Formats: sequence, C-alpha cells, structure tokens
Amino acid sequence: MIEVTLLGTGSPIPDPRRAGPATLVRAGDQTFLVDCGRGVQQRLAAAGASAGALTALLLTHLHSDHIADLGDLLITRWVTTFDPDAPALPIIGPPGTRDVVDGMLAAFGHDIGYRIAHHPDLTGPPRVDVREVESGTVWERGDVQVRVGATDHRPVAPTLGFRIEHAGASVVLAGDTVPCAGLDDLARGAGALVHTVIRKDLISLLPQQRARDICDYHSSVEEAGATATRAGVGILVLTHYVPGIAPGQEEEWRALAATTFHRQIELGDDLHRVEVHPGMCGAPDEIRPGA
Ligand SMILES: [Zn+2]
Ligand SMILES: [Zn+2]
Repeated sequence: MIEVTLLGTGSPIPDPRRAGPATLVRAGDQTFLVDCGRGVQQRLAAAGASAGALTALLLTHLHSDHIADLGDLLITRWVTTFDPDAPALPIIGPPGTRDVVDGMLAAFGHDIGYRIAHHPDLTGPPRVDVREVESGTVWERGDVQVRVGATDHRPVAPTLGFRIEHAGASVVLAGDTVPCAGLDDLARGAGALVHTVIRKDLISLLPQQRARDICDYHSSVEEAGATATRAGVGILVLTHYVPGIAPGQEEEWRALAATTFHRQIELGDDLHRVEVHPGMCGAPDEIRPGA
C-alpha cells in the first residue's frame, strides 16, 4: 500500500486554511515529500512526519509556490538531526534545482555560520544530494522505484511528473501541467494520479490579464479527469485548487471531475489522506468520457 497525504492544497494565493503545494507519499519504510510549498513543515508535523524523517524530496518544478519553504526545510532537518552519519537529503528535481538549493543555502549562510559557531557537534552546513533529472528511473531503493516523465507547464521548462511504485501499488504526481503525452505515458495504469487543477471557468472571468494567463499552462478539473481516464488510473486525487475550494463547494468540484472521470475522485482540505492499494487501476480506454 502507498499512502498519499495532501499536505498543502493551496496555490500562490495565501489562504488561511490551505498551505502551499506539497504532498507526502509513504511507501513501505520510505517517505517522500513532493514539492515544498508554504507552511509545509506545520503540515508535516500534523501528518506525523518531519523534515528529519524524509527519505527524499522530489520537486516537480521550480515555481515559487512549489519551493517556498525549501530553505526552512533544509535548515530544520539540519538542526534536528543528531546522528552525525545521517545521510544527505536526496533532492531530485529538474535542471535548475542545484541553483535553487545552493541559493537557499546561501540565503541562510549567516544562520548556518552562527549555528556552527555555537554548537560543537555541528561541524558543517546542511548536507544535500541534488540530482537534476529529466526522465527515466531516478530512484531504486529497497522495494520502491521512482520514475520521471516530462510534463508541459511551458514556459516553465523542463517540468517533471513522478511515478512512485511499491509492492504492486503506484502513484503518479503530475505537478502543474496541461494535458500532454508525457503525463499520459507516465500515468498509464497507475493506482492513483495526484493532479493540480484550476477552475478555468472561474479564472477566465477575472478582470486581470495576469490572472487569466494562468489558464494556459494548467489543467482544468475536467482536463485532469480526462487525463486520468485516458491513462486508466484507479483514483484521481485533485489538489492545488485555484481558486481555493470554499467550504461547501467540494461537491461542485467533484461533479466537474466526474464529467470526464468515472472512478474514485478524492479532494478536500489539507491533510486529506488516500490509500492506494495494488491493483487499483483500470485499463486505458476502459472508461470513456460521457459513457
Ligand atoms: Zn507551476
Ligand atoms: Zn503551482
């Protein structure tokens, strides 16, 4: 079984009830954090996890809402890890990830210096193992495998989707993307697809062009459903709601997804948890929109 917890279901717009984009995936004894948005560590704590307990950090892309709390995560892991032999944190992301991580550590350079000067057992800066990837199998450890596929969030490029496999169960994390062949391939037959979504029917009515611009590089709720149907996934998990789902509007969002996807649909508030078991996929083309 793979357990998916939506740590943050928000977006760049600050929301009193929703943290920024971040998803926790527990597979066997390994714990993956996918994206690292605003408030991620409060949500990690609420989910019974912590920066120090992460096996690896996976970044779908380098938009600010998806990396906002990366610096805090790195510093917190460093100061709360007491094992001198603890492994460096693997950080797997698209090209550019190394620049971002180095920049975050540089921004906290004064803090890192203060702590090394003050604590004799802190002898070096936070240890990271950055791997810039674009495709293929990027993780094979124990009974967990992670594969990467290209998504389409242009002009943000390259951007990644991740497929995590464990003991016959599989979860795909799409990140921000329009429907594309790369995601269709990555998600084919997966147990669950975690997909970011925006309400294009609402956003396209806003007066500001800058707000309407976001429609051209995100998927709508219906488009995410259609991707899930094409790929034959078992569960569609919606997150990164733009605008944030107001209390009582969950069923309206679910109904939109159900116009194009007829299996299990999951959405909700931060800390919503979904279990993905082996064999929870459909077959591609088995479920047709409008059927
Ligand atoms: Zn983005
Ligand atoms: Zn985003």
